[in-house]
Amino acid sequence: MRDSEVLVTHHKALMELSHNIGFIEMPRPRKLAALVELCTRLLGIQRASVWLFPPERDRITCEWLHDEEQPGHNSCVKEENTGYDLFRSDHPEYFQAITAERVIAVEDAPNDPRTRSFHQGYLSVQNIHAMLDAPIFDGEELSGVICLESHEHREWSVPDISLAVAIADTISLMNTHEAWLRSKRALEYVRRYDSLTGLANIDSLRDRLGHLLRKIKRRGAGSLALLWIDVDRLKTINDGLGPQAGDQVIADIGQRLRDIQLAGKDFIARIGGDEFALVIRNYTLPGFLIEVTREIQERIRQPIRVSDQDLNVSASIGICHFPGDCHEPEELLRGAEAAMYHAKRQGRDRSTLFDSEIQTTARSRFALESELREALKSNSLDVFYQPIMDRTGTHLESMEALVRWQHPQRGWLSPIEFLDVARSAGFMYELGACVLRSVCSHWREARERNIPLPTISVNLSAEQVLVPDFPELVKEICDHQEMPVEALQFEVTEDSIQGDFGVIGRVLEKLVEAGAELAIDDFGTGYSSLSRLKYLPFSRIKIDRSFIKNLPDDEDDCAITLSIIGLARGLGLFVVAEGVEHKAHEAWLFEKGCDYLQGYLYSKPLPFSEIIGRYYSD
Ligand code: C2E
Ligand code: CA
Ligand code: CA
Repeated sequence: MRDSEVLVTHHKALMELSHNIGFIEMPRPRKLAALVELCTRLLGIQRASVWLFPPERDRITCEWLHDEEQPGHNSCVKEENTGYDLFRSDHPEYFQAITAERVIAVEDAPNDPRTRSFHQGYLSVQNIHAMLDAPIFDGEELSGVICLESHEHREWSVPDISLAVAIADTISLMNTHEAWLRSKRALEYVRRYDSLTGLANIDSLRDRLGHLLRKIKRRGAGSLALLWIDVDRLKTINDGLGPQAGDQVIADIGQRLRDIQLAGKDFIARIGGDEFALVIRNYTLPGFLIEVTREIQERIRQPIRVSDQDLNVSASIGICHFPGDCHEPEELLRGAEAAMYHAKRQGRDRSTLFDSEIQTTARSRFALESELREALKSNSLDVFYQPIMDRTGTHLESMEALVRWQHPQRGWLSPIEFLDVARSAGFMYELGACVLRSVCSHWREARERNIPLPTISVNLSAEQVLVPDFPELVKEICDHQEMPVEALQFEVTEDSIQGDFGVIGRVLEKLVEAGAELAIDDFGTGYSSLSRLKYLPFSRIKIDRSFIKNLPDDEDDCAITLSIIGLARGLGLFVVAEGVEHKAHEAWLFEKGCDYLQGYLYSKPLPFSEIIGRYYSD
């Protein structure tokens, strides 16, 4: 045969092997075995092997060696024979050659300067006279070698070299493909699993539910229940002991849920910060499910040891059932979540089965959520203003902006009716931006009409103060309407500043640097640490209206209000009383030295035009 014919025959044989579907699906060792075996057969040589560079690159290590004397067997077994590592320091000429020349075709290996160093311990022992090495690449990098060995002297022909290179290239492709599969699997893991607990995430849960529901529908038999497990008060642990403690609690609970043995237990996922889901198949009678939730709650209630402290945690559980309560995976999730909220409202550490009443609430919540999304998109939220008066109750000092929503069917909605939905749907940041845009455009309208508005106070949510770029957004919105940031004041509640102190501190500092004033809202209702109050740049405190309501008759409320006024004095802050409804409130507060007053006694929150009409028409 002519060289060219041999070449074609070899390449055809290799193509037939490597493009065979059986080959593609083989595990790596079998692939390597098949390739080197093919090589020895086609070239009529005795040995062929595959070698790899380990990450240190100080040696090459044999991965697979085919020896005609032991067919079907990997002859480079490492445990017995350390000789199958070849070190760069022992064979510098060979390493130099394989790196520089790439293909090494050696007719007389014992005497060739490139392979001479193998003579004593290797070539003579194995009776090798000729060697042909071709490089395996990973991209640009040399990652290994394929090595063909013959017992006879051999002048390597072009078809020999071409086959060796083609087999080395096939292994390169295998390596690339395997690396791709590994990264795909790693990515898949990140996409489908939660890294803290190692449990599946909500996307995987959705897929699982979809699969199970389809199966039950197809068979017309079977049932399943979804348990939505929400850890109570994790926020308190995060705030009090730091986020690592919170993470540890979550990881621990994840492990407990994994360990717990339950009939019909099918799938567990971590579906949110402090939320887990558990799928039960077939064992779904209500009585049984209630037992199951008791057992889970009992497990979760066992103290969790975190940095030498025993923490006691509880969980609220909502249960939704298929068939019966819902038809689709998404409904199952929503139903279980709604039942969980219901359980929480009953007090913590409870469980609730989904029912028609919960269904109605869940439906209207769901509807409200999508309507609110639309309202935000079309910028159709409105802002009302409530005056804040001086201490005598006669002069307008500033005014508070309060969001309102004119619902197409239900008329004006107060924030109490929709902020909760906005919060759980993740709309708070956008809602805050909407309010600020309205305030700024009102302010501009007033300026154009030469109306000197006082400072406008805007409520901020936790979702806003936790975003490092929030102050930039404020400046941007103000700039857009040529409104100075100095014309604004911001109110944050004690609860909304419980998160990451570093971030919140910087956000609030920046707002103050930009010229805004800062008030702490609903003071006395949340848990605020005095140190936060001292180190954050507040200039006023708003006493919550629940303490004002029963003044001056309720002794406790009098004492609390007095002490807040005293505290403010001590810290050099102004005090505002909210919820001033009666002359008696006003008189008492004036006498005790409260600086500003806000409440229905002066005005309810009013639309912008009415506020202007009331205070600025002569
Ligand atoms: P808040 O910041 O404490 O606002 C004062 C609330 O008390 C307002 O309710 C106001 O109408 C009401 N109020 C004022 N004077 C009196 C009074 O004399 N007696 C009684 N009983 N109530 C009085 P509103 O407008 O329904 O707002 C409720 C809460 O919604 C606000 O409480 C605030 O926490 C939140 N909110 C309102 N607008 C926004 C906003 O734009 N962003 C954020 N994040 N929260 C807002
Ligand atoms: Ca407020
Ligand atoms: Ca308030």
